[in-house]
Amino acid sequence: MIDAVLVINAGSSSIKFALYSLVINKTSNAKEKPLLGGKIVDIGQCPKLYALDANDIDLTKNDLDVFNDQTTHEDLIQWLLDWISCHNHGYTIKGVGHRVVHGGRDFLTATKLTISVVTQLKELIPLAPLHQPHNLSAIEAIFNWAPKLPQIACFDTSFHHTQSTLAQLFALPREYSDKGIIRYGFHGLSYQYITSCLPEYLGTLSEGRVIVAHLGNGASMCALKHRQSVATTMGFTALDGLMMGQRCGSLDAGVVIHLLRCYKMSIEEVEHMLYHKSGLLGVSGISNNMQVLQQSNDPHAQQAIDLFCYRSARELASLVSTLNGLDAIVFTAGIGENSAQIREQICAQLTWLGVTLDLKENRKHNTVISQVNSNIKVLVIPTNEEVVIAEATQKLLASQ
Ligand code: AMP
Repeated sequence: MIDAVLVINAGSSSIKFALYSLVINKTSNAKEKPLLGGKIVDIGQCPKLYALDANDIDLTKNDLDVFNDQTTHEDLIQWLLDWISCHNHGYTIKGVGHRVVHGGRDFLTATKLTISVVTQLKELIPLAPLHQPHNLSAIEAIFNWAPKLPQIACFDTSFHHTQSTLAQLFALPREYSDKGIIRYGFHGLSYQYITSCLPEYLGTLSEGRVIVAHLGNGASMCALKHRQSVATTMGFTALDGLMMGQRCGSLDAGVVIHLLRCYKMSIEEVEHMLYHKSGLLGVSGISNNMQVLQQSNDPHAQQAIDLFCYRSARELASLVSTLNGLDAIVFTAGIGENSAQIREQICAQLTWLGVTLDLKENRKHNTVISQVNSNIKVLVIPTNEEVVIAEATQKLLASQ
């Protein structure tokens, strides 16, 4: 029997999962391959399962045909646990690691989950309404499935606790910052993974001034020095910063007041608009999916793409001042890893900084996509949040 850790990354419309052997050797990429891994996508529409074993054998059949748009995350987690048990080829799950988006001020490192920790994390739901409820429902489903199985939470906010007080403060009356209304930042597990890869690709430059652009359905950027977070575009919630699939990104707070006062919108209506109806979807009126927009001839689709790139270049430039210059940019996540066109359009707005893209290498999706003489190196590195969660879970289990 192989001892294994199960990793669950429960998002708003997908649940990613991976089963790793309990010992992970970060120096070898082959070891990062899970024993079993996959995702359930399109939750809330018509859920579909994709799963591969360690030999890349496709394990999916029409497993989820019984489910529909009413199927909840809880139902699917329950189903997934049974499915994993059925596909168990000789391993024992010794612990479960979860991605939890918001750890607030109290959770700065991976933490063993107890009823009281879960209660504290529930209080943070209003700060991450798209993700936190699903993260927590997966945890509760596993507590019901195997009450004694250790569960570990790994927080997206933790990576950013190295930021200075100045980088975290909003210009609000001090009593509100004292109560925790500060910038936390998110996508920390992704940034942690990328920082672990930087020495391999950048050598000593990895300790320099690097900006990572995590461009997926959710999107943010992080300014790194000595591979630690100095500043990031997301703030108190995951609504701030870049334009995203359905989220607006940075917005004049006066707009919210205006919607409440003059359009008589309720708080829930405003929240729904900003989290679900804005971003690429809102501007295009077509889709939150970048690939769909790139295939559309509708001028509003093009405008949404243009705004996404304009906002990305502008936010990136503002992070440069927090680093006093820039040595490298890393693109990651769904759009950052896969869309040469978006990388090209963003970098075209950064030539004044000394960014010179090698268009051929970019189109080939190579790791280094800048020209040899570019003042700023540009890289594409696929992210892997699940590996970070597996390692943290392994460490905590070993220490107990
Ligand atoms: P993520 O949230 O990291 O899974 O990223 C999802 C986003 O990546 C969606 O907007 C997808 O359309 C986008 N994406 C994935 N593959 C591609 C591609 N080949 N070209 C453009 N966008 C892509």
